[in-house]
Amino acid sequence: MAIYSYKTEELTNFKCEENRKKYLEGINIVKKYLGRTYPLIIDGKEIETKKIVKSINPANFNEIVGYIHQASIDEAEKAMQAALERFSTWRLTDPQMRADVLFKAASIFRRRKFELNALLTIEAGKPWVEADADVAEAIDFLEYYGRQILELQKIDDKILSRDKMERNEYRYIPLGVGAIITPWNFPIAILTGMSSAAIVSGNTILLKPSSNTQVIAYKFVEIMKEAGLPDGVINYIPGKGSEVGDYIVNHPKTRFISFTGSKEVGISIYEKAAKVQKGQIWLKRVIAEMGGKDAMIIDDGVDVDFAAEEIVKAAFGFSGQKCSACSRAIIHKNIYDELMEKIIEKTEKIDMGDPLEYNNQMGPVIDKAAFDKISEYINIGKKEGKIVAGGQFDDIRGYFIRPTVIADLSFKARVMNEEIFGPVLSCCKVESFDEAIKIANSTEYGLTGGVISSSRINLEKAKKEFHVGNMYLNRKCTGAIVGYQPFGGFNMSGTDSKAGGPDYLVLHMQGQSISENF
Ligand code: NAD
Repeated sequence: MAIYSYKTEELTNFKCEENRKKYLEGINIVKKYLGRTYPLIIDGKEIETKKIVKSINPANFNEIVGYIHQASIDEAEKAMQAALERFSTWRLTDPQMRADVLFKAASIFRRRKFELNALLTIEAGKPWVEADADVAEAIDFLEYYGRQILELQKIDDKILSRDKMERNEYRYIPLGVGAIITPWNFPIAILTGMSSAAIVSGNTILLKPSSNTQVIAYKFVEIMKEAGLPDGVINYIPGKGSEVGDYIVNHPKTRFISFTGSKEVGISIYEKAAKVQKGQIWLKRVIAEMGGKDAMIIDDGVDVDFAAEEIVKAAFGFSGQKCSACSRAIIHKNIYDELMEKIIEKTEKIDMGDPLEYNNQMGPVIDKAAFDKISEYINIGKKEGKIVAGGQFDDIRGYFIRPTVIADLSFKARVMNEEIFGPVLSCCKVESFDEAIKIANSTEYGLTGGVISSSRINLEKAKKEFHVGNMYLNRKCTGAIVGYQPFGGFNMSGTDSKAGGPDYLVLHMQGQSISENF
């Protein structure tokens, strides 16, 4: 399907001094509003509640990013009523108008890019380059889905009429109220993508962001309002997943659930959504994007320096907290020792520290729970294999974990199978390319995968046999671009909904066929 062409947002070149200055100005803007209190937004109204939580800077947990009012079930119900009411009119609006809201939002994002980048650095611990890519991706989603809805409307023109007999139309109509439940690791890109796809398709939403990044989520809602979105289309209800999240998943009036997060929560949402509640007159649709245990396969005879570079970038970008991060390196025995040496050398060179400093390529992990979980996995890795780089962690001021490489693992090791979601790379040696593919496919996930090989035969074999939603040949396995590499995984990585691809919006709609007898 052709999409109206668009140019993806350019990443900022921080080698340019002027851009570094702009980032520092962005930090100054954010510093001025640190510690502010944020309400819920239901039907356009700011609502305060009895429960407030604080959002902290994971690199310096004495710094409070903001205080956020938390929704209870009462407010979630009010949000549902507002979303239902607004759906009756929003569903009938001209798709061009909805697209224009997204296009205007994209331009506001561009104007406020450095401030948003800085907020991602402070609330999510993203180094400059990673924060910049997150905001750029959000802009791309807005531009892409705006164009995509216009493209889909053209289907209306494709009338399947039988001459002089009948007039047939086929069109997509919105679903209803959606529960949008988002993660913290791409707190602006994924949240913007999931929300904007739902609303541009004519739905109204209940937006429940991750508890770690609620200020960023609020900024998104603020921008959408400035872009002209009517009240009640997005209802912002931050709150506890197990309370508010659960309530909106189970609600009989929820028509669809769009979720990105862990496998465990994804499975529980899928199960709950399948249960038809009293008064419910449809089967809920679930779009679920979940975890991964992504591998890069390194074949015999490749440039080991290049391979090490790609692995290290994919493993430790944003502290390994990308669902696409390379978490396993599966290496041919003939190059294993040489490649491990290079991986160790490059890993040890990574500067880690407060991401407010441009030179720090790696910042903290997101919170105490992540810090504890990852350090526990490092301890498991010490028993299962050999720590050859990193292995140190400290949470004196923020949640810092050195990039860690574990060598000589069996493919059955827990650290080779379970999602760690942190800066930990597990490595194993294989006898052949066939064995590498077998091991790569041996987890329950199937999100991203990389293959570095100079053999055309092996690359072709990978295309046929490596069972992942996003495969990357001769490059790192992270960094999907909206519109170019539609993103989503197989098996326990989710429903393969392919965000940023031509089929995504349709998941938020239903096809209607109308035939008129002439
Ligand atoms: P998470 O599952 O802990 O939380 C995700 C969201 O679900 C949050 O908003 C949370 O509050 C909410 N939630 C928690 N319990 C709930 C419940 N019982 N009912 C309803 N909602 C509930 O995940 P996370 O830690 O925010 O994100 C990290 C995970 O997300 C990793 O596993 C990562 O691989 C995955 N992820 C996947 C993709 C993808 O595209 N496949 C992208 C990004 C992240």
